[in-house]
Amino acid sequence: MDLSFVTEISSPRSRDELPAPEAGDAYLAGGTWLYSEPQPSTTRLIDLATLEWPTLTVHDDGLEVAATCTIEQLCTTTFPEEWTATILFRPCAESLVSSWKIWHTATIGGNLALALPAGAMITLCCTLDADLLLWTAGGGERRIPVVEFVTGDGRTLLDTGDLIRSIHFPATALRGRTALRKIAYSRFGRSGAVLAGRLDEVGFTLTVTASTVRPFILRFPAAPGPQSLSAALSEQISPVDYLTDAHGTADWRRHVTGVLAEEIRRELA
Ligand SMILES: Cc1cc2nc3c(=O)[nH]c(=O)nc-3n(C[C@H](O)[C@H](O)[C@H](O)COP(=O)(O)OP(=O)(O)OC[C@H]3O[C@@H](n4cnc5c(N)ncnc54)[C@H](O)[C@@H]3O)c2cc1C
Repeated sequence: MDLSFVTEISSPRSRDELPAPEAGDAYLAGGTWLYSEPQPSTTRLIDLATLEWPTLTVHDDGLEVAATCTIEQLCTTTFPEEWTATILFRPCAESLVSSWKIWHTATIGGNLALALPAGAMITLCCTLDADLLLWTAGGGERRIPVVEFVTGDGRTLLDTGDLIRSIHFPATALRGRTALRKIAYSRFGRSGAVLAGRLDEVGFTLTVTASTVRPFILRFPAAPGPQSLSAALSEQISPVDYLTDAHGTADWRRHVTGVLAEEIRRELA
């Protein structure tokens, strides 16, 4: 779609060349959302591709993913064998309603910044305890766990001019065993609930997304029993945290969240 109100495109090659924030700015990553609907309040695009950040970097303490890394690059790269949890990358990508054509350009950073409840890169990052590096508008840096970064449906801690630079997955989480469940009203419809679990040396972690307005992480020292899991879901996610929209009612989402959580618990325990 043509963005008729855009009058300027900035193509910075380094942080120093990022323009000072102005009303009407939007960072352009893959553009799969930006170009998918009219953006009457956007007058300048700041293209992130020209920054040419290294896409994926394997470190001793984990994996660093540039915000501009595409979903396809994440899913098609081979990682160290002991990083068993990288098996979760593809099912998370498949939980997006988008096809592989979208994967080719859609970025991890764009998915996090958009903060849709069905943003399955959010599910992935939360399940693997990822944090992100934010370049703040004033020239500073901040590290934030992804679970804290997404604060609501389409809401994040991003302030005007802030930029997601990269996402870091710790090696301990990457060595875990994982399981994922997704449900939608229709086979190719947007997710009504996406849950993922991880079991490793630190314990059992369950991430609830898509059914709730923001991501929730439930943590246990070891795989819990069915009653403990069910009690934790009721205690830590209140009925008002469940979402009602075209892709599911809050009551239905709460119900399927319990069912999928138990399936994940059984698979990993
Ligand atoms: C057919 C179709 C199906 C889709 N299905 C889903 C779905 O199931 N779930 C879902 O979550 N999304 C979905 N989307 C929306 C979108 O494609 C994805 O969320 C995608 O990952 C966005 O990434 P992008 O790189 O294309 O972002 P862009 O479109 O380039 O940007 C999206 C937003 O994020 C901002 N942004 C991008 N990168 C950064 C950054 N590094 N720092 C700060 N701000 C940034 C942009 O300014 C913009 O506001 C779908 C889109 C289409 C067209």
